[in-house]
Amino acid sequence: MLKFRRPLRTFCCWSRRMCFRLEDGILLCIRRHRKECVGLLHPLSALFLLSLIGFTFVYDLWFVLPLLTDPQGIWHKLNWLLGIYVVFNILANWWLGFTSNTTVGSLPPKRQHPEAGEAHLWHYCTTCQKLVPPRSWHCRLCNDCILKRDHHCTFLGNCVGHNNQRYFLGFLFHLTLGTGQALVYNAMLSWKHNAFLVSDPLFLVAHDYRDDPLLDWKITVGSIFKLNFLLFLVPLGMFILQMVMVSRNSTCYLIMDRSYDVGWRRNFEMVLGRRRFWTFFSATIASPLPNDGTKWICKQNV
Ligand SMILES: [Zn+2]
Ligand SMILES: [Zn+2]
Repeated sequence: MLKFRRPLRTFCCWSRRMCFRLEDGILLCIRRHRKECVGLLHPLSALFLLSLIGFTFVYDLWFVLPLLTDPQGIWHKLNWLLGIYVVFNILANWWLGFTSNTTVGSLPPKRQHPEAGEAHLWHYCTTCQKLVPPRSWHCRLCNDCILKRDHHCTFLGNCVGHNNQRYFLGFLFHLTLGTGQALVYNAMLSWKHNAFLVSDPLFLVAHDYRDDPLLDWKITVGSIFKLNFLLFLVPLGMFILQMVMVSRNSTCYLIMDRSYDVGWRRNFEMVLGRRRFWTFFSATIASPLPNDGTKWICKQNV
């Protein structure tokens, strides 16, 4: 046993060194080829998401729903309406979040500089070489300073910040709603055909299903249900995380910082605007934000 210890330790050190080198290499590559990375990453993420939305929409509304409800009945039509409403809001929030300019440069020229007595609250960005407002941080991928930066979202193709966090929340909310709606259909279909377990490889080994003429169909239906369940959990988890962050007026950039928490009502208003939760009904509802992203009230000053 002892004679293996030294080669094992050498291998561990070597693999750790290789991991660090790989990480450094990836970071260096991003720094040197920022434009190429962004140009590749954003369209690929968008294509992946569009394919998933398109597949779920066609499969669940065209294929699964007629097997569960009467195609001429009111329930069928209502489910179709809900599906169209959800997809419209996913795409509208996505588009508005992508096209929103949330950089410091989006401010009127007068507000891009601190007012008298404000300079001590602003900080210097060494990359942009200028003073930027509190809670603004530089994004390497956007190559700009972002107002109240939360994080860079590759699916949104933009940084999530002061001007577009409302759309990001709406995007996640409707993704959760859409995958939840599909999950109900897929669960009902799997239940109807007893396909929950059949797609499990262990179950297939233990039981002889060779004579079942619907075996392939059951495996497909059961597997899509399981995939759908995972796809429901991802936006749900992200939506819950974002709601917690917004309710405390903190950001993913500084996750533990609660110094701007001025009560959940005002915190939500600072992100969703004056119409607050009504914005979840439609991405097109106008809801002006109470501040321009340069002035923040600290908790101790409330
Ligand atoms: Zn900067
Ligand atoms: Zn960014």
